[in-house]
Order: sequence, then structure tokens, then C-alpha cells
Amino acid sequence: MMIRGCKVFLKSSVCRVGLAGALSRGTHAHTAFRSLLKEQLNAIKVAGTWKAERIITSKQDVGISVQGSNNKILNFCANNYLGLSSHPDVVEAGKKALDEFGAGLSSVRFICGTQSIHKKLERQISEFHGREDAILYPSCFDANAGLFEAMLGPEDAVFSDELNHASIIDGIRLCKAKKYRYKHRDLNDLENLLKEAGNSARTKLVVTDGVFSMDGNVAPLKAICDLAEKYNALTFIDECHATGFFGKTGRGTEEFFGIEGRVDVINSTLGKALGGAAGGYTTGPKELIDLLRQKSRPYLFSNSLPPPVVASASKVFDLLLSSSELCERVAKGTARFRSAMTKAGFTISGEQHPICPVMLGDARLASQFADKMLLEGIYVIGFSYPVVPQGKARIRVQISSAHSDDDIDRAVDAFVRIGKELNVVS
Ligand code: PLP
Repeated sequence: MMIRGCKVFLKSSVCRVGLAGALSRGTHAHTAFRSLLKEQLNAIKVAGTWKAERIITSKQDVGISVQGSNNKILNFCANNYLGLSSHPDVVEAGKKALDEFGAGLSSVRFICGTQSIHKKLERQISEFHGREDAILYPSCFDANAGLFEAMLGPEDAVFSDELNHASIIDGIRLCKAKKYRYKHRDLNDLENLLKEAGNSARTKLVVTDGVFSMDGNVAPLKAICDLAEKYNALTFIDECHATGFFGKTGRGTEEFFGIEGRVDVINSTLGKALGGAAGGYTTGPKELIDLLRQKSRPYLFSNSLPPPVVASASKVFDLLLSSSELCERVAKGTARFRSAMTKAGFTISGEQHPICPVMLGDARLASQFADKMLLEGIYVIGFSYPVVPQGKARIRVQISSAHSDDDIDRAVDAFVRIGKELNVVS
């Protein structure tokens, strides 16, 4: 029975390796589990929401090579908002750090994993955001997973936008505070919940994405801060899709609303606009950062950020602290794309943000549209359930300061051609 299972499911080399393990684990459970997985995989395919991964054979940039295509492809779906992922100075800083500080630390921060460059980057982050201190994490997913549990206890209450990023949802699940979920960007609902919570909670924390990545829309942050003040609550924002490029000088959602310094705690990523390698952080009051270094589990129990990653991000902050030219460029490109696409009859969700979701509705249409765009030399991806709600499939275009006007016009032309072919626009 075991051997028959092997023949059916495994290629021979895998089968030889897996034989002893499968025997000792019991074939029936093994085989039944595989069919269960296959059923689920098949259901995803049938629903048209299968996410295939295209393989890039070059650096991350505006012009990339993709396996299976001989032409240079224009990339319109990276979070490379400032075009810094392959910036020569950023790459050079990483190379130098590799020589000077090594490939990695083989340690968590508090044992023997803190180098001078980690401390320097944390200083740059807090300076950039105008905060007292900052703490690095392996990713922003980890920063979100590690914040709430350390910061809030059962005596506290947390108020979270229903469409916050998955990592915030998971982070909040891990904490013992009383949980309230308010309707997406709905200030009335938030206020009702703040009222309902009353004064019983020791600390109240309102939690929102600064910019929501699927729709490119912005949290009503000024009004949220006003409500928080009125009901004696603190505020938290996730700035992954804002830091470095959103707001006049790239300081993010606070700057976009002209309310710099009003938010209490900010989490963000180094894995998007800020060089795109990896890493995340929390920045805010010194005592909170001190506490996170003592209590936050993804910080305490996960390896230090590798030196080349740290040095590349540090170079990005050097660039951003000295000029906001890249930030102005991405804003201009965004306006150009949004205006041309709207004129052509497409519905573009979101507001003034380089995330420009081209709304298509149907999952299969979105995926077919994206495949046809690739044939036109434009790399975009269709997003469908469960990443976005059912019936709200879209192609999420992301503008970078590295896109030229020509690049943007080429993308719009391709959208219009294919949009006509697929009866999306007339
Ligand atoms: N928060 C938001 C809003 C994000 O979009 C992402 C990434 O997709 C994350 C957090 C996680 O960031 P990281 O890739 O650094 O883990």
C-alpha cells in the first residue's frame, strides 16, 4: 500500500528518500493528507484565484528580465516606489558591509548580534520620523507580530480597522487586550466603539494602516488622532506603503495630513521603498522601544538583520535625509498615470497614491488581463480573493520614481489596447 502510494504521488528520487519516513509515519494518514491538500489546491484553481509566480532573472528594477520572455519587461508591480532596490550607492553600501561586517551575525540582537551599523540605522530611522528611538526587526510582519503583545495586557483595549494588514491582525490576535474592530475608515463606528469601551481600559490604542495597500487609499488620520485625543487613546500606524515617498518629503501619512508628530507609534518596512531588501521597525517613545527590546518575541527570538541589508538601508536614509527629489518624482508619475487611465475609462481606486488599483471585478479577467499585459512587455499582476474581497479583483499598478513619462505612457497604451480587446473600456 505504501509503495503504491509512492508510485502515485512521488517522483522516484523523492520516493527513495521518503520511504523510511513514510513507513514509520503510517501510509494511510500520509496519503489521506495529500489528497486533502490536492482537493484544496484544486479548489483554488477552480475558483480562478491561483497565484502563479513569474520568475525574474535580473535585478529588481523598472526594466527587468522575466523567464520565458526575451524582451526587457517594464515592471509596474514592485513596491520599489523610489527605485532604490538596485540603486548603485545602495548596492555598493551592501557590498562594503559584507566585507567589513560579514554575511550575518549568527545571533539574536541581545546575545552577540548588535553591531555599530544596527545602532546607526536605528538612529537614522528615529531621526527620519522625528521620534525618540527605533528598534529593528527581521521584517515589518515581525514588528507587527511583536508590538501589541508586548505593549498591551488584559487591562487594555485595542481598536483596529477591519481592513488592516494581515500582520496587524495576527499581532493583535496574540495580545490579551480587549479587541474592537471598526468598519473600514469609519470614524462614526470608531467613535461608538471608543465610547462603548469607556474609561475602564488602562491603555486604549487605535490601530490603522496609514495607507491600505490593496486600495491605495489613506486612513483619515487627522480625524483618528482627534478622536484618540478626545477619548484619551493612543494611536498606531503601519507605514509600509508610505515611508520614504508619501507626503511632501516622504515622511508618510502624518506629513500628508500636516499632522507630524501626532501619532504615538509607527511601524514600517525596509522591504519596499527603503531599498527593498528586508527588515522592519518600530519607532516611538524611548520607554516603549526599551520595553520591546526586553519583551518583544520576534526581536528576542529571531536572528539579527544581516549587515549588507542594514548598510543598504542606512544608505537609503542618507539619501532621503539629504533630498526629497525622488519623492516628488513619484508623485508626478502617479498623477500622470491616474489621470490618463481615468480619461481612458478605467476605474482607479485610491487617492493620490502610487498604488493605482485598476478595478476589473472578475478574478479570471484580472489574471487574463495581466497575462496579456506581459505579452505587451508590461509586468503587472492580477489580485483576487482572498487577497482582496470576492468580486473586487483588480490589477494593482505601482508607480516608481524610476519610471519615466515614456514608461508610464507605454503602460497606459497597453492597458487601453487590452482593455478594448477584453471589453473593459470602449
Ligand atoms: N504591513 C503592510 C501594510 C504591508 O503591506 C506589509 C507587506 O506586505 C507588511 C506589513 C509586512 O512587511 P514586511 O514585508 O517587511 O514583512
